[in-house]
Amino acid sequence: MVLCKRYLLLTIAHKAQGLLDSSAYCEGTFMTSTYPSASPQGSQLPALNWTNVAFFGAFHVVALLVAPFFFSWSAIAVALLLHWLFGGIGICLGFHRLISHRSFQVPKWLEYVIATLGALAIQGGPIFWVSGHRQHHAFTEHVDKDPYSAQRGFWWSHILWILYPKPEFFDPNIYQKYAPDLMRQPYYRWLDRNFLMLQVPLGLVLYALGGWSFVIYGIAVRSVLLWHSTWLVNSATHMRGYRSFESDDGSRNCWWVSLLTYGEGWHNNHHAYPRVAKSGYRWWEIDTTWWAIAVLQKLGLAKKVIAMPSQQVSPES
Ligand SMILES: [Zn+2]
Ligand SMILES: [Zn+2]
Repeated sequence: MVLCKRYLLLTIAHKAQGLLDSSAYCEGTFMTSTYPSASPQGSQLPALNWTNVAFFGAFHVVALLVAPFFFSWSAIAVALLLHWLFGGIGICLGFHRLISHRSFQVPKWLEYVIATLGALAIQGGPIFWVSGHRQHHAFTEHVDKDPYSAQRGFWWSHILWILYPKPEFFDPNIYQKYAPDLMRQPYYRWLDRNFLMLQVPLGLVLYALGGWSFVIYGIAVRSVLLWHSTWLVNSATHMRGYRSFESDDGSRNCWWVSLLTYGEGWHNNHHAYPRVAKSGYRWWEIDTTWWAIAVLQKLGLAKKVIAMPSQQVSPES
């Protein structure tokens, strides 16, 4: 079996209009779907990808059945620290708000460092991730054109879209259409091909620091927790929670998803204003990704931070 790394990847989630100025990424006709559209259940299912099933299955087996034999509190701390570093900083702040939506700008060297942390999350490379996410916003909940459309049900938007990957998820023409800014940069193209290999030096460092216990918790347990955290943004926050804005989709604000995803669970807010750097608008809508952006701003490292339009400061009650 040819192991296609790109098919091992995945992503996060959301949708809406206007993300990074969707017009810049949606010129011409909409992406061509190979699926005859559009029953409420979604159209034809792509083929099950057994490589992906084996990959994700193996991680789950290690995290659920092997990890208990290697338990230590320090290993738990490593898993939680890397969940935040690769998930909170790499994915939420980096892949999502920085390079998908360009909600703020940082020096290029720092952007690449943050994107590398995102690549360590094993959610695909940056071009794959950003291209899919921009399609999610451009075609939110369309049964064929939104890669993780919640209209196809909870499990499709959560994980099945990865186990039944559509060929266009890995089509360079689609990448060129939705992520031309990243395709122009050699480092992003390299990272997109090699993100999985980054686990090797990470594993060696973890082994040196704490043996197999750190490797298992720092890679397998952390990855499984982080995958499901991220996927809940695709699935749960399009089904559960309250709405502050009448966006043209089913997005919701869900507090417990926000706790797991560093503020990304305020998903209705995000779909209403995809380019705004801050996702939590009410005082209780805790958004720790925003806190991290604010720290970068205080340090003079984050600039051109996009705020809510002044006339829209308060969400509708
Ligand atoms: Zn988004
Ligand atoms: Zn969404």
